Amino acid sequence: MEKADTILTNAIVLTMDGSYHIYNPGALAIRDANILAVGLQDDIEKAYTTDEILDCGGKVLMPGLINTHTHVPMTLLRGLADDLRLDVWLMGYMMPVERQFVTPEFVKLGTKIACAEFIRTGVTCFNDMYYFEDAVAEATAEVGLRALVTQTVMKFPAPDASSYEVSLALCEDLIKKWKNHPLIVPGLAPHAVYTTTPEILSSIARMAQEYDVPVHFHVAETESEVSNLRMEQGIPVIPYVRRFGLLDTKMIAAHCVWVDEGEVRSMQHANVGIAHNPSSNLKLASGIAPIKRMLDLNCNVGIGTDGPASNNDLDMIEEMRLASMIAKVSTSDPTALPARQVLAMATSMGAKAIHMGDKIGSLVPGKRADLILMDLSPIHNQPHFRRDPNGIYAQIIYAAKATDVTDVMVNGQWLMTNRVLTTIDEAQLIATASEMAHQIDEFLKNREESVLSKLVAIGGASEEESFEVQAKVSVADLEPVIAALARPDVEIVRLRHYHEYDTYFSFKDPGQGRLRYREDEFLGVDGRVESVRSRLTLIGETNSERSGNASEIFLSRSRYLAPAVHSLRFYNEYFKPERSLEIEKNRLRYLIRFQGIEFFVNLDTIQKPFSGKFVEIKSRTWSRQDADNKTQLMQDLLIFLGLEPSAMVTEDYVHMVEHLLGS
Ligand SMILES: [Zn+2]
Repeated sequence: MEKADTILTNAIVLTMDGSYHIYNPGALAIRDANILAVGLQDDIEKAYTTDEILDCGGKVLMPGLINTHTHVPMTLLRGLADDLRLDVWLMGYMMPVERQFVTPEFVKLGTKIACAEFIRTGVTCFNDMYYFEDAVAEATAEVGLRALVTQTVMKFPAPDASSYEVSLALCEDLIKKWKNHPLIVPGLAPHAVYTTTPEILSSIARMAQEYDVPVHFHVAETESEVSNLRMEQGIPVIPYVRRFGLLDTKMIAAHCVWVDEGEVRSMQHANVGIAHNPSSNLKLASGIAPIKRMLDLNCNVGIGTDGPASNNDLDMIEEMRLASMIAKVSTSDPTALPARQVLAMATSMGAKAIHMGDKIGSLVPGKRADLILMDLSPIHNQPHFRRDPNGIYAQIIYAAKATDVTDVMVNGQWLMTNRVLTTIDEAQLIATASEMAHQIDEFLKNREESVLSKLVAIGGASEEESFEVQAKVSVADLEPVIAALARPDVEIVRLRHYHEYDTYFSFKDPGQGRLRYREDEFLGVDGRVESVRSRLTLIGETNSERSGNASEIFLSRSRYLAPAVHSLRFYNEYFKPERSLEIEKNRLRYLIRFQGIEFFVNLDTIQKPFSGKFVEIKSRTWSRQDADNKTQLMQDLLIFLGLEPSAMVTEDYVHMVEHLLGS
């Protein structure tokens, strides 16, 4: 007789192998970290001896669940910001807080909290994507769970990298350190198409092939991700990433909500694993992935919880139930995604989806001993019918709760026995997490009070010259000014024609200034739109020193400029202005040299909300002295252009329009 380290007896064994064998009463023998044998109890007891027999008391013994897409350290951001759109949630809240708080210690703490939740809910392996993945790997290995840890690479500066080149170096370190660890598999995570560049995607594909590691990627999560890419590149996500060689890697595509039939076929052909995230897709209103179609076409589809900040838990039992339910309702077919198939997605098929099907996912001799016990005896799961052997799968998917998981083993080591965690001190984790939540609350409270802080938080804001020399004159006709500008005393450096759409946000506290969202349509000689540019400008309160003659045209104020990479809708929801006002104008923008000094001369026709023509002369500088000099010279320029000083307007367009609308 062969000797086993441990034999588990008196269990309903769901193997989740290729033929869905069930042994009842069944037994399973373990040696070292591996499954030695599995079968009917009588057969196992005849063939194997052991010093340790564990009676499972008639519970279900099955493979541990596999969470195929998550961001575990985000347990620390759980409940931080909810009921928002994906872009506002991600760019407005998650990323700014992450830039401020995410350190290796933060990541280790968040990972341990997630691991505790995973063990309690029967998860034995997860596929993670975050920053400082080395810390995720360390915390996970300390706890004893199994994970695929993939290091994020993005075009934006990240908490662990000032540039993507630094992220790529971190990836290489991660791979070298963890390549042969018994619990950890390292991998690469180019976050998504909209957060990466062609250079990043090519580098990732090269590195993945060189080291033979998986690539973990968000694919077609939202409709706008796909429509933007179609607009810019003319193709959807899968053909786009194929260009860079990503389909030749061991790829895992998370979400895949907005993929078309051709993309599903390409993914099947390239053996791309798909991670379906029903809770996250529902909560962020991303849509419903065509899972039934993917399964019909033989794709490997696993289930994931996504990050705990967008779910908000890591409960795979709930995720399995939702996967089944939304597949049924979205296809109007109650036979879609039956219980057994959905359990396969969370075990054997999920293992294949993350390219670990040879090691985990089913209770088969030679695979790792990653298994759980579930108690189906509680009242919410009674009574039990025995007529149909597949009834057990329905009990697990449609009636069982995560709290019915009683025991968890990973790699031959017990991590929970009788609902007691053996490698984690939960009380300690909760106390430390509360302290962290308090700090994040304070940070956000301070930030919400300042429009400038909110602008800086979403990146790219730079301060502009703070002194502005400006004169604006109302005119009946622009032609005489155009004629004057053509005279030889003026050198025209540049002339551009724009159609400008401005939206001004104002806030309850006027001291916050105004935020202007400007869409500049650059018009060619034939009047057609040649390009469009969007910018955000935070214009501080004007401190004009209006004393004496010249001071009418001298202002000082703070201005912060940022490229507007998001939509006007995003900024509206993110900044929550008290009022917003739209102004549309036609602008001829001259850059001229007059008596050796450069000035901008704008010939503006305000088209909405009223019609009026204005000549605006502007120059900005960091120097107070320079501003004084230019103020003098601007007086001469006004006279030269034949403008009437008595027609001078001292208000900004936005103030003029406000007064007009108010009266
Ligand atoms: Zn995700």
